[in-house]
Amino acid sequence: MHPFHYEQPQELGSSVDRVSRAQEASFLAGGTGLLDLMKLGVETPALLVDVRKLPLAQIQELPDGGVRLGALARNSDVAHHPLIRERYPVLSEALLAGASGQIRNMATVGGNIMQRTRCSYFRDTSTPCNKRTPGSGCSALEGINRGHAVLGVSESCIATHPSDMCVPLAALGATVRIQGPKGERTVPFTDFHLLPGTTPQRETVLEHGELVLSVDVPALPAAKRSLYIKVRDRASYAFALTSVAAILEVEGGVIRQVRLALGGVGTKPWRALAAEQKLMGQAPSPPLYREAAQAALEGAKAREHNGFKVELAQRTIVRALTTLGGRS
Ligand SMILES: Cc1cc2nc3c(=O)[nH]c(=O)nc-3n(C[C@H](O)[C@H](O)[C@H](O)COP(=O)(O)OP(=O)(O)OC[C@H]3O[C@@H](n4cnc5c(N)ncnc54)[C@H](O)[C@@H]3O)c2cc1C
Ligand code: SF4
Repeated sequence: MHPFHYEQPQELGSSVDRVSRAQEASFLAGGTGLLDLMKLGVETPALLVDVRKLPLAQIQELPDGGVRLGALARNSDVAHHPLIRERYPVLSEALLAGASGQIRNMATVGGNIMQRTRCSYFRDTSTPCNKRTPGSGCSALEGINRGHAVLGVSESCIATHPSDMCVPLAALGATVRIQGPKGERTVPFTDFHLLPGTTPQRETVLEHGELVLSVDVPALPAAKRSLYIKVRDRASYAFALTSVAAILEVEGGVIRQVRLALGGVGTKPWRALAAEQKLMGQAPSPPLYREAAQAALEGAKAREHNGFKVELAQRTIVRALTTLGGRS
């Protein structure tokens, strides 16, 4: 591991200041992602600014009935919180489908949304990778790409966004609150992560030195009827091949509210707006669900080994809608 300095400021202002002034500095939260990448030599910060002393671990109700997830709230604490279990089961289920109990006890909200891809070439410093070393090429395009993305891909990068938690956050229409050297700003969750395009090294809208303060989940009564389905190679402790976060409200025989987002298939957490449009205002039925699933994967671009993800994701969408809609 490369040598580095370590600091643990007690205040928000000095934490942001320290990172924004030093080019080679990173925030450290739970450490479950960053320390691995440092051991592999993929990330080599000269300064680690540990933010765990900052008062950002709260999970609190907002005046409008939404819930604020502090950036330092642990993944386990969010998953088991009564407000989350009752109002947003899809979020609780997604968190519990991720990683292992021990990792969830360390991992934080901010670290989760900032986690980096599990593309094996990205993690292997002996191979070309545009995300790790811009301009070096993408080993996955003609390599082993079974786990890679089919939506939002570019000729520069096809890496999958690995987070489970981010999938329901995209569906729920959450907002990210950010503190930078120039003040605070908020960004809609679906705009927070960037498509790879020709600059896959740039993964989010965060500028260097900006710190995530919280993720705010809006009030959405329909989300009480929601679920997360994750399909993976092993029953636990594996990243998604595909996953679906679904929220469905049917009233008077018609779909009144629907939210769908996909994981495991996109280069970023993927809100399936085209599928939602097919479903809204219609009577729920298996053919309608299949039509929506096809719309969700329209434009998918598969490589040699990941073509199976297109149908797998469609089937997962149909399963999620069928389960929530109560029709087979
Ligand atoms: C073996 C293993 C299996 C896993 N399986 C899954 C899985 O199935 N599903 C899944 O979703 N995840 C999985 N993960 C990933 C895990 O969820 C992440 O490692 C974790 O959420 C990162 O959170 P952290 O607090 O430990 O972040 P850290 O490792 O501390 O930081 C990660 C990154 O976020 C940045 N960062 C942290 N906090 C902030 C902030 N507030 N503002 C700005 N930047 C910040 C850091 O600088 C760093 O770049 C797995 C991880 C491991 C090691
Ligand atoms: S898919 Fe992206 S992360 Fe993986 S090797 Fe290609 S450029 Fe690197």
